Amino acid sequence: MLYSGENTLCYAIPGKLVAIKGNIGVVDYFGEHRNVLIDTDAKVGEYVYAQGGVLISKVSKEEAEETLALWKEQFFALKKVDQKLSSVKKTGKESANTLAILQKVNVGKQLSKEDMLALLKLDNAAELKLVYDTANNLRQKRNDNACCVHGILEFSNYCKNNCHYCGIRKSSRIKRYRMTPDEIIAAAEHAVKELGFKAIVLQSGEDEWYDDERLARIVREIRAMGVLVFISIGVRSKETYKRLYDAGARAVLLRFETSNRKTFDALRPGTNLDERLELIKYAKKLGYILATGFIVGLPGETDEDLIDNILLTRSLGADMYSFGPLIPAEETPLEKQKPTTKEMLLKTIALTRFADPEAKILVTTAFETLDKDARREGLLAGANSLMLNITPVQFRKLYRIYPGRPDTDKKIEEGIKQTVELLYSLGRAPTDLGI
Ligand code: SF4
Repeated sequence: MLYSGENTLCYAIPGKLVAIKGNIGVVDYFGEHRNVLIDTDAKVGEYVYAQGGVLISKVSKEEAEETLALWKEQFFALKKVDQKLSSVKKTGKESANTLAILQKVNVGKQLSKEDMLALLKLDNAAELKLVYDTANNLRQKRNDNACCVHGILEFSNYCKNNCHYCGIRKSSRIKRYRMTPDEIIAAAEHAVKELGFKAIVLQSGEDEWYDDERLARIVREIRAMGVLVFISIGVRSKETYKRLYDAGARAVLLRFETSNRKTFDALRPGTNLDERLELIKYAKKLGYILATGFIVGLPGETDEDLIDNILLTRSLGADMYSFGPLIPAEETPLEKQKPTTKEMLLKTIALTRFADPEAKILVTTAFETLDKDARREGLLAGANSLMLNITPVQFRKLYRIYPGRPDTDKKIEEGIKQTVELLYSLGRAPTDLGI
């Protein structure tokens, strides 16, 4: 196993910057070339780290060569495991229509909405396995075995909104917390320096206690640690998003939750779908890496809605698709709803992979809440991205966005160990090489 410390893993392999065209750099990893957005003063010939498609820091030749020497064997060994696991075998029990649709995927054609609906309606285990395997095969061919692992820091569970599905909605009678800017920076520093994370996601409810000045300071100080800073703070003004970009944030996680206007209005009182979409587009235009998506299984959701959600995510230019199941939270208007099934989530991952072969598709921690094998199965159905909770334990259990979270008591080191074991067993490299 390749750890860079006792309980730390390498989340990025250093690569050599071999060309620069404008603000895009070409980085060489053992002969493979990837493009990255340059966000440092790196020069051709220098070694660098990239995350999420952004060149985040330079690394000395000595450190790079030492890490690369450790990685070289592992890099190719993992690829072999991944190639083996992503092969596709038919059983002969698949219908001619399913085979015809999947053949379109195999020859690089886009599926029609009708094709996607037909796949969504499948309920036969052999056919579903072929769908997931085809998606995983496409992921392997187009993205290889890199799987980015970002650390998520949930810094406040205050929210001014009252979304019907959310456990930390304003009217929930949960214990509230706010980490101070110093606590946030210290927690990020621990994750970066002690645990080796190269990308930190700063997540909260919509909490305006954190004004622009506080947020900008937090972003600036974490960016200075040489990592990618992701912000997930909900709807704030365009000025705030601009200011945080200027402070060094380079990625945004902002879901639209559902493309169905009626459902949105019913479940997110006081908020506005157009305003959210406008902000997502603005963030993309500013140059942020965009992670967006939706909830799978909201009440009244139709198969058409689900396909529309995937297509809307694509049309917004998502670099990373983030969707999770509905897990009804106590004392919310949806507490009696049925949770989304694992099967529906896996189908959503596979269809997303077909719709956007190059995308990063995130397996959120909520998957694990549904079923202990769901993360593994998600990665084998076309997903290629994970987040690990790095919130200090005393706060983590209070971020009760949904019940039964598996990671509330788990030590961060334990979460890392389990994740590395999972990824290695699947032949995935827990790294982010760029795009
Ligand atoms: S879903 Fe987001 S915006 Fe809605 S109540 Fe929960 S934290 Fe707030």
